[in-house]
Amino acid sequence: MMKGGGRGGAGVPRCDLCEEPSVYLDRVRGCHLCGEHFLRDVEGRVRRTIWDFRLIRPGERVAVALSGGKDSTVLIHLLRRILLGAGDVSLTAITVDEGIAGYRDATLQVARETVARLGVGHRVVSFGDLAGSTLDAMVSAGEDHPCSLCGIHRRNALEAAAAEIGATAIATGHNLNDQAQTVLMNCLRGDLPGFTRPPVSDGTAHGIRRIKPLFRIPEKEVALYGMVAGIYRELPECPYAATALRSEVRRMVDRLEHLRPGTLGRIVRGQEEVAALFARAAGKTGNEPDPDP
Ligand code: SF4
Repeated sequence: MMKGGGRGGAGVPRCDLCEEPSVYLDRVRGCHLCGEHFLRDVEGRVRRTIWDFRLIRPGERVAVALSGGKDSTVLIHLLRRILLGAGDVSLTAITVDEGIAGYRDATLQVARETVARLGVGHRVVSFGDLAGSTLDAMVSAGEDHPCSLCGIHRRNALEAAAAEIGATAIATGHNLNDQAQTVLMNCLRGDLPGFTRPPVSDGTAHGIRRIKPLFRIPEKEVALYGMVAGIYRELPECPYAATALRSEVRRMVDRLEHLRPGTLGRIVRGQEEVAALFARAAGKTGNEPDPDP
């Protein structure tokens, strides 16, 4: 796309597309971008992902899973910008409160501020209401794998709330790092159905498609987008995060990406090809969501 970064008089790297100071060196494509061109570049790639995979269709009612963390906050801002002219597509945010003391309250507050700023409808659902207990209470009662349990309840809560508001798609903030981790975790677990699933959609429930518009954007670019756009907030980390297999896989792929830039993209593209092969063998297009499990 672009060639290596230019340098200003004082040795400050400059944007490859204008004379402004660079805020980002893309080590994979070998280019420097200023704040404005970086924002446009990320928006363009998300727009292309939505277009290439027909993620959002005319008349769609999209429920955005908004935890209040950086990924989902950037996602809802991007969707709002990208869909601004698409008057027949509506957005509603859904936040799931798992009941994790010292963590969820802070992100819930950010989620509330975000929807107020964007003028987007918001629904909050809690584990307490749906499962009769908070995640903290389940862990205190002896639950050893909080992330597995959390994932199941959160998915159910999101789908129930999305069905209630008549959503046709649930958009989640999974980024390229998340996607690469998922590919490797499916390998480590020997989960063939998971490994061969199309990357942009992890299936449907009650006829509602699950879509991942950020799956081609690396985590550091999502964070930088939030900073440059002025919407990034430092937030506490979930106290249970370190217990998950994903944490170990995350460390491994982050290290590989640092040593060999482009590793994340190669993992995800390789899996995309495998998924497409399996879909063709099964007579599907590869971009279609799986039928209800
Ligand atoms: Fe749930 Fe685990 Fe994520 Fe915490 S880190 S919110 S427990 S999935």
